[in-house]
Amino acid sequence: MKCERIILHRLRLPLVEPFVASYGAESEKDVIIVEVVAKGGAVGYAECAAGRAPLYTEETGGTAWHMLSDFLIPVLIGKTFDQVADLLAIRSTLERFKGNRMAKAAIEMALWDCFAQESGAPLGTLLGAKRTEVAVGVSIGMQGSTEGLIRKVHSYLEQGYARIKVKIRPGYDFEPLAAIRDAFPDIALMADANSAYRLADAAHLQRLDAFNLMMIEQPLAFDDLMDHARLQETLATPICLDESIRCAEDVQNAARLGSCRIVNLKVGRVGGFGEALRVHDACLAEGFDLWCGGMLETGIGRLHNIALTALSGFTLPGDTAPSARYFVEDLIDPPVRFVRPGWLAVEPLAGVGSRVRKERFERWTIAQKRFDR
Ligand code: MG
Repeated sequence: MKCERIILHRLRLPLVEPFVASYGAESEKDVIIVEVVAKGGAVGYAECAAGRAPLYTEETGGTAWHMLSDFLIPVLIGKTFDQVADLLAIRSTLERFKGNRMAKAAIEMALWDCFAQESGAPLGTLLGAKRTEVAVGVSIGMQGSTEGLIRKVHSYLEQGYARIKVKIRPGYDFEPLAAIRDAFPDIALMADANSAYRLADAAHLQRLDAFNLMMIEQPLAFDDLMDHARLQETLATPICLDESIRCAEDVQNAARLGSCRIVNLKVGRVGGFGEALRVHDACLAEGFDLWCGGMLETGIGRLHNIALTALSGFTLPGDTAPSARYFVEDLIDPPVRFVRPGWLAVEPLAGVGSRVRKERFERWTIAQKRFDR
């Protein structure tokens, strides 16, 4: 596969309802879609996980656009990828550019997707995945009232979601979790803090042990391993790291320090499928439970997450819910939906291109940039 052309699309998609986490609320999804066109006509797509503002990690759509345009695309355009090993090598090709993992992932994943289409092989198969169905949980943003939250949890349980995750922050943690546990004593429940606490909050976080949570996700700083290790010593609830895990070496260091017992893997956060496979293997080697998180992806990112989640090291339900939950109009058709309650099919798609609806795509585009070899 020879990479002839790359097009960056910047889209703004309306959400069904605002999504609220400890770092802020989103009512529209600002997303960069990378389109790769191969010499023979095969087309690959991927989306960039970076948001409008640097609230999750330091990257934004703006920094990703700059990195892709000025550094990453010039290095990769015109290159030939004949086998999976060539795709795995993109990681080291881009290594001299520091950080900017979401930007790197967007172009790397689009090349994998294009390779899948040209070779006619499903992306999951190329990644070494064998599952045909994956279980999913749901992530619930902060709600205005406890009654509203309980109603939401009830409705998601009825739809078949295998576990419920709620966003928490100081002032919105003990009470909502107590209310959910009171109403649903036995459900698989977890909480995500998105770095909203400090180590000085350890005594407060210990109170959450009473709720028998599957895990508490990223309670402390987005780039920390040390304080998480000290906190984990004081908690019965397993800590899951999200933001702090950027590469396989972070998994090994977290294991050495005792910073967590579970990892949430997001392909965008670690820089692409190549690094995601390394993180997956490191979690298996360290005996960590692993699941695939979400970044409010459009259907394009969801299909990629599902393909990855089909790998055997993903031991817990992921966050890739059906797309209709989030978007007024998704970019793919048919959308991601349950094959049975709580389960998604790993479809044998050779790249997501056959599912992308280009006319919708164009409706929501706010900027575009084309690069030719
Ligand atoms: Mg998280």
